Amino acid sequence: ASLPEPGMPIAAVATPVGVGALAILRISGRGVFGIAGRIFKKKQNPAFRFAEAKGYTAHFGSVHDSEGLIDEVVALVLRAPNSFTMEDMVEFTCHGGPVVVQHILKVLLDEGCRLAEPGEFTRRAFLNGRIDLLQAEAIGEMIHARSESAFRTAVTQMQGTLSLRLEAMREQLLRSCALLELELDFSEEDVEFQNRRELQQQLGVLQEELRRLVDSYQHGRIMKEGVATVIAGRPNAGKSTLLNTLLGLERSIVSHMPGTTRDYIEECFLYNKTMFRLTDTAGLREAEEAVEHEGVKRSYRKIAEADLIVYILDLTLDDYADEVARILEFKSEYRNARMIVAANKIDLASESPERIQELREATGCDVCGISAAKGEGLETLKELMSTMVVGLDKLHEASVLVTSLRHYEALRNASDALENARMLINSNSETELIAFELRSALNYVGEITGKVINEEILNMIFDQFCIGK
Ligand code: GDP
Ligand code: ZN
Repeated sequence: ASLPEPGMPIAAVATPVGVGALAILRISGRGVFGIAGRIFKKKQNPAFRFAEAKGYTAHFGSVHDSEGLIDEVVALVLRAPNSFTMEDMVEFTCHGGPVVVQHILKVLLDEGCRLAEPGEFTRRAFLNGRIDLLQAEAIGEMIHARSESAFRTAVTQMQGTLSLRLEAMREQLLRSCALLELELDFSEEDVEFQNRRELQQQLGVLQEELRRLVDSYQHGRIMKEGVATVIAGRPNAGKSTLLNTLLGLERSIVSHMPGTTRDYIEECFLYNKTMFRLTDTAGLREAEEAVEHEGVKRSYRKIAEADLIVYILDLTLDDYADEVARILEFKSEYRNARMIVAANKIDLASESPERIQELREATGCDVCGISAAKGEGLETLKELMSTMVVGLDKLHEASVLVTSLRHYEALRNASDALENARMLINSNSETELIAFELRSALNYVGEITGKVINEEILNMIFDQFCIGK
């Protein structure tokens, strides 16, 4: 097999910025052994040459510039194709101070390396066939993972589980496609290489699998981005106060004026290893004011996308009938979301426990009494919030999850194309039309793993990386 053509030599710091015990700089590409040799002196062996060193060997020595020693380092030699980028690579482990690290980087650049762009190492690994696109994205997600479960999902993905399944799917589609296209070549003779009934059945199985993947997106998204939680309720119920208390900081403006929170704001907090993405909505009422109106519309849109709604009810109201009606309305309107009622201002309301029990019966929701201002009852509320995700974590830890919107959309498109193909087969349509739909499904599946390369998608993915990865 021929080796991939090595790219320009690139260099980057692979470890986070700042002071650490050790830092790693990596270089990759054409001529990096020569570059490394010019700045590195091996202890006890001045005649050492990188070009002659075996792959996966580490060498202790020092890095110099024209003025003298910079640091003692360990140089790890990785030979093409057995490196991450499949090019010749050297990794220098040095002492972790930013001054030392920047100094070594500068020497590498002076010697002919170019500073790597964000994600360039991973991009080369992908372009050279070391990893597929899905795995490349998983590396990106691992770097940015916001919670433990997101990290685990990313790792599972990196191990290529989803890739393997999609690849099997692609092969099957490719085979059917080839057979159909072969039929087209023999079009005058009316032959059938691909039995239609069999094809119909196969496509049904594939579509079922695609549907499962598409359905996993909601759970995948929760693990990756957190539980989309909307804090809803009438103006002055205490939404902003609750948000601030939960986050422990003064983020949204709390005021006595109803409807001060014009638009929504979003903040995250971690509880029980679960990330909650909190949104405070503009006061929900049948607003008259124009500015307020836009905010209210946005609020409703947010609620429609929520996984969890925390409805704040003001216990000091004289009459709850309207609120109960609204809560019931929400419950039937937003069936995808779980709903919790937080009865606020228990510090002001006498007879709170009785009222809370009444509310529980009237709404059929989990209701907990809190004082957002005094911080009372918040542990119970958070516990209640996390019960909605308990089990989800365990359930999906090991299985394949779709966590990216790009994959979700491609899978849905593939599924739609298969649906079309099946309808065409059912109505005995022309082979050409069926083949077209299969091709299209094939392309969508291929877009996910990068078998079908789309420059725009590549840029979108690799632009999110940090330098050195
Ligand atoms: P929002 O319009 O729903 O966001 O309500 P705010 O959070 O702005 O609160 C409205 C008013 O109620 C403010 O004056 C808060 O200080 C007050 N408030 C909020 N929660 C409590 C509470 O638990 N107890 C008391 N006594 N006052 C509260
Ligand atoms: Zn508010």
